[in-house]
Amino acid sequence: MKRPSEAAPPLALVVDDDFTVRLLVRQTLENAGIAVAEADDGSRGLHDLVRLDPDIVLLDVMMPGKNGFEVCAEARALAAHSRTPILMMTGLDDTESVNHAYEAGATDFITKPITWPILAHRCRYMLRASQALDRLARSEARLADAQRLARLGHWDWDLSTHEIYRSPEALRILGCSGALAPMDYAAFAALVHPSDRGELDAAVRRALDEAQPYSLEYRIVRADGAERVLHEQAVVECDRTQRPMRIHGTTQDITERRQAEQRIRRLALYDTLTELPNRQFFKEQLGHSLAHAKRLEQKVGVLVLDLDRFKRINETLGHNIGDQLLAAVGARLTQSLRSADYVTRADTAPVAGNLARLGGDEFTIQVTGLAQAADVAKVARRILRALSHPFHLGGQEVVVTASAGIAVYPDDGDDVDALLQNADSAMYHAKDQGKDNYQFFSPSMNVSSLAKLTLENQLRKAIERDELVLHYQPKVDAISWRIAGVEALIRWRHPERGMIAPMEFIPLAEETGLIVPIGDWVLGEAARQAAIWRAAGFAPISIAVNMASPSFAQPDFVAKVAAVLAQANLEPGAIEIELTESVLMHDAEAARETLRALKRHGVALSIDDFGTGYSSLAYLKRFPIDTLKIDRSFVRDVIRNAEDASITRAIIALGKSLGLAVVAEGVETEAQAAFLRESGCTLMQGYLFSRPVCADDITAMLRGPVQLPLDAAA
Ligand code: C2E
Ligand code: MG
Ligand code: MG
Repeated sequence: MKRPSEAAPPLALVVDDDFTVRLLVRQTLENAGIAVAEADDGSRGLHDLVRLDPDIVLLDVMMPGKNGFEVCAEARALAAHSRTPILMMTGLDDTESVNHAYEAGATDFITKPITWPILAHRCRYMLRASQALDRLARSEARLADAQRLARLGHWDWDLSTHEIYRSPEALRILGCSGALAPMDYAAFAALVHPSDRGELDAAVRRALDEAQPYSLEYRIVRADGAERVLHEQAVVECDRTQRPMRIHGTTQDITERRQAEQRIRRLALYDTLTELPNRQFFKEQLGHSLAHAKRLEQKVGVLVLDLDRFKRINETLGHNIGDQLLAAVGARLTQSLRSADYVTRADTAPVAGNLARLGGDEFTIQVTGLAQAADVAKVARRILRALSHPFHLGGQEVVVTASAGIAVYPDDGDDVDALLQNADSAMYHAKDQGKDNYQFFSPSMNVSSLAKLTLENQLRKAIERDELVLHYQPKVDAISWRIAGVEALIRWRHPERGMIAPMEFIPLAEETGLIVPIGDWVLGEAARQAAIWRAAGFAPISIAVNMASPSFAQPDFVAKVAAVLAQANLEPGAIEIELTESVLMHDAEAARETLRALKRHGVALSIDDFGTGYSSLAYLKRFPIDTLKIDRSFVRDVIRNAEDASITRAIIALGKSLGLAVVAEGVETEAQAAFLRESGCTLMQGYLFSRPVCADDITAMLRGPVQLPLDAAA
């Protein structure tokens, strides 16, 4: 396609064997502002056509060699000149040669003798028409391009012939080309998804009956089975009597856009890990349920479920397993709700639906259609039972329990937020009740969370007010029954409540971060006490202090410990640090570095509550540990329970093989002590020997004679 240039005049090629005609044509056209090239026979004419690419050709019919008809036909066969305007100059004014000219592809003809002024007009007109055609072709190509990019096709339905014209893109969208194109509405409707056909039919019917335009989304199923989503807009054209003549419109393939929208919606409303609805979606759904329940005067139960000790699983087994566990819990909850068979009659049966993950290890379930609040308990019991079976993750067996809280609309709140908040309080109450159970909300729970807040504020001030104290519990040597060391155990001397045990405020301190200053205080106080006992001339005994994860994880923890030791001027081994397995496994590599650094400063290290965590033997070997402390729960039943006895023996054997000292915690009876001693346990701690006591009492014990607790020990 030739672009008309603004500057250069159009070029005409004159092909005529008659010199005079060429001369006159040249004069006429040049006067009209058209440049002229000449060829004196047909072959040269074709040659120049290719070489010069003229804007118009004037072609004589009667020429020696190739005649004008032949030249014209050959020119048309060239792709570049399929549309170049060709004016045939015939000497014969008969119909036959005019027909012949058009058949050969001529654009127009003029008869000789030529009326010159008319020739100029004719040429200018043909040039203008040709330029207009060029512009049209270009704009059509641009439109087709744009439509292809936009996946937009157009179509035109002639209601008199019933035929539907479709643009190439419209055909591509339907997935059928050429001969297979659906020519009428019935053939097209066969492609439309059966579920959407009715709606489309109705819209088309309205268009035909009432000349109504329509805008509609529907799906088609292509011949290859692919489903596409289309958006269609159509308008109706009527004749003067308002009778519809044609319907035409556009069809756009919006499949990808719809898919992207769905993905965005999923991301916004679903949790990617468990693929369950998220908090926001749950709240929306619960809102609808509450509105519905209000109308029907029904109850709705909201159950909040939190996994017990999930943090510990995450820390010891890694976040990857933690994530897998959450996904598995989600799947198991879904399954257990789906297989719900309620004992109540079907029409009054509560419906447990809309399970969601609220975040972290917290899930929630709404139970609708409740006749009585107590029915939610059935759901809670089933869920807790379903979760009690072990999970198999990454080659390990993981056991979890969960605590659940229940709030019921309208008794415990009449909006979404109040219900969720109260179910949450009830869940925390279930945790306080020893976990692995469910609790209904009661207003007193909010009082207890207030009490917790008060306690937190008081704990903040406890350090500066000097209300914290360390008690010490002896660890005795199983052979000599001498005090080999003591464990420092913190207490809070509360101004109103008296002595508070660590289990009542250490978890709160960990939650609030207060554990870090408390840990610092414990360390300093223990070192100060160690120095006092040294100064009093007692044989060196070690003081063990318990360190929680946030203390241990401080970047300057080692430096702090070193400074405390240096200030108290203590010998290596004077301070021992007790850490639980979860503290070590949290970031095992970092923990190993910290432990090594502590060792270099002469700090002894022991693993507390050993056997309750998930530490792997591989790690144990790589940590520079001195002591394992067998958890009290094993020691407690060591006489009655064969399994606990064998675990205890195994831990003692493990300690021996790794060259570690083993301390049995919570030794209360002589039978336990005898068993432990026989099993090769070298150190014991427990009420049998002494409860944790104040420093002065320990001083007295250190001074006094050695008391043998066991007759058998003699
Ligand atoms: P733990 O480190 O395992 O301490 C042993 C706990 O067992 C102490 O409870 C002790 O009084 C108790 N116990 C000792 N012998 C017996 C016995 O024969 N029978 C029974 N039933 N219990 C016995 P306590 O003092 O209440 O401390 C509880 C936990 O609080 C400690 O467990 C430790 O995890 C934490 N804790 C105590 N002091 C501190 C501290 O200064 N810092 C940190 N971070 N945690 C501490
Ligand atoms: Mg301890
Ligand atoms: Mg312990």
